[in-house]
Amino acid sequence: MRIYGIFGSPIEHSLSPAMQNAAFGALGLNACYHAFCVRQESLKDAILGAKAMGFGGLNLTIPLKEKALEIVEPDALAREIGAVNTVSFRDGIAGHNTDGVGALLALKASGVDVRGRSVLIIGAGGAARAIAYTFAGEGARISIANRSPRRASELAASVGGAGHGLDDLEVLVPSADVVINATSVGMNEGDPRLLEGRLLQKDQAVFDIVYNRETELLKDAREAGAVAVDGLMMLVYQGAKALEIWTGERAPVEVMERAVREGLGARR
Ligand code: NAP
Repeated sequence: MRIYGIFGSPIEHSLSPAMQNAAFGALGLNACYHAFCVRQESLKDAILGAKAMGFGGLNLTIPLKEKALEIVEPDALAREIGAVNTVSFRDGIAGHNTDGVGALLALKASGVDVRGRSVLIIGAGGAARAIAYTFAGEGARISIANRSPRRASELAASVGGAGHGLDDLEVLVPSADVVINATSVGMNEGDPRLLEGRLLQKDQAVFDIVYNRETELLKDAREAGAVAVDGLMMLVYQGAKALEIWTGERAPVEVMERAVREGLGARR
């Protein structure tokens, strides 16, 4: 049996084992996927150990995605983004980043094409970076707004866009074709709103990559008549792309989606 896993800390709430094990079952692969609590200081030992034990591949999550660059051989996109969420062992120890393509496919599945559109990304952390590089590569026009404006400007400069602080959202939001929340705001009940609902327009798409609950931003987007997309399908597609990198098989996306929805449902 081939072993796969996700490393992170904390890791006990990860939905990836349910999602990937459902996919392996549907594909008839003799494989299983497990979550492992790994801290930054143990990451190198853990990755080398997984390779030595013949693991098929790994996902990495908070707080390991950036640290992994020191250990694996990142592909061009993962190097640009500065973060690795998928490790494959087929040819050495290769690092990939599937978060951006996961976001892109999630929007496409909702009928939203970013090519030539103005995309406002709120946030400048790991997920925002993955989305910014991937969407810029697709021909989107990118603006970044972040709590720390310096981080926004640095990221924007590297994808050919403009960087802003959150105070500029008042002007930026109404004029964007696609508004993306790539911050962690909204993950918890009672989080403050990132922006006022009155700024959202009915001809926009609003994508909130938070996937564990319906955020106030998405409620406001629906009220405004905008296309509202949550982060669940991004999670599914980033996992689907990882599975395809490891196995070369076409991922059973519907099976993976069902497993994630069931996993989330069981928590409520
Ligand atoms: P990260 O690297 O820690 O970045 C966090 C971002 O959120 C930064 O831009 C930070 O701003 C901003 N932020 C945090 N607290 C804030 C607040 N109170 N007000 C305004 N901005 C705030 O995290 P990440 O890995 O990018 O993840 C961000 C979110 O995306 C998390 O909720 C994560 O679960 C989600 N995510 C979803 C998927 C998916 O598949 N759907 C994939 C990856 C991540 P500063 O720079 O100013 O600190």
